[in-house]
Amino acid sequence: MEKERLLELATQYKNESFSGRYIPVEDVNNFIAKFSEDQNRVIGKSVLGLPIYELHLGGGSIKVLMWSQMHGNETTTTKALIDFIGFLQSNSAEAKEILSKISFSFVVLLNPDGAKIYTRSNLNEIDLNRDAQLCSQPESRAFKKLYMEFQPDYCFNLHDQRTIFGVGEPAKPATISFLSPAFNEDRGVNENRIAGMQLIAYMNKSLQQIIPNQVGRYDDGFNLNCVGDTLQNLGIPTILFEAGHFEDDYEREETRKLILIALLKGSWGLSNKTHKHINYKDYFTIPENKKCFYDVILRNVGRQNIDLAIQYKETLKRNKIIFVPFLETLGCLKAYVGHKEMDVSGKKVIINRKEEWSEITEIQELSVDGKECLVNLTKA
Ligand SMILES: [Zn+2]
Repeated sequence: MEKERLLELATQYKNESFSGRYIPVEDVNNFIAKFSEDQNRVIGKSVLGLPIYELHLGGGSIKVLMWSQMHGNETTTTKALIDFIGFLQSNSAEAKEILSKISFSFVVLLNPDGAKIYTRSNLNEIDLNRDAQLCSQPESRAFKKLYMEFQPDYCFNLHDQRTIFGVGEPAKPATISFLSPAFNEDRGVNENRIAGMQLIAYMNKSLQQIIPNQVGRYDDGFNLNCVGDTLQNLGIPTILFEAGHFEDDYEREETRKLILIALLKGSWGLSNKTHKHINYKDYFTIPENKKCFYDVILRNVGRQNIDLAIQYKETLKRNKIIFVPFLETLGCLKAYVGHKEMDVSGKKVIINRKEEWSEITEIQELSVDGKECLVNLTKA
């Protein structure tokens, strides 16, 4: 699948019923409910008692398990997965080919309680991606039962990452990051890890043509409590996808399209084994993710010419995500980049009517005009 075709499919199969950062659980469940009884089933219940669905598509011999929103506030890959499922249902030659080679198991929404209230953790405030060994939560137990029964050949572990991550020099936003996780403390490379690396390098080849230098590689520190590390430890190649920031795209609609492109390309590679032609060492040419971005940086604040960083906090209000600015830090931030930068040199910077700042606080007002930069905080 070449770049033009990938872009064409990604535009064609965007499901317009799903958009923005907050995706109501009912909307996802209604989407799943449209499938026939032999295609969908309830694999367990959340702490609140909400059903967790699995959708089964395709009849091929290669088994691929994909799940999204294990972290309730990470909806971008859910949108992309819904688009991908729409593509699979189409009559396109590629969809037919993929479904003839692959059997998919999808969990579009693994943490419905967290999704409802837009939190990373579940209702018991447990991070499900640190519960892979203990399986203390009903969501973790349902998921473990699924993968033990299904015995996947490949897993796609779908997440969102914060806007703070960048790649390369000079840094660009890490719009998509990947990881083929370690299988033990030594972070060695074995056959399964190589299979994941090959597939990532294969997807990256197409992504580089569309978003050059905006793909990152996540650090491979080993933690058996993480689901990806556990699956890799069990010998199942598992790929971590992290949907990140694209310029001016806080709703992550552009990133959603790029994740869909990665899913299309990755499935295509698995179905016809073309990813096997890739040298796995190409994986290491993907630059490592680094924490080097803030949402906004004001440059040259005050007489000492220091920098002031602002970070948005995603806040759920009436079924919508509002981006509330917080004063994050102040100092020498030369090593950092702002998704937006404003040079306020020569301007009088007034924070809460004073020319100094105190603590990390919500910003009510930020205005920069002729001679002044006003930052009004909620609390002094
Ligand atoms: Zn996550």
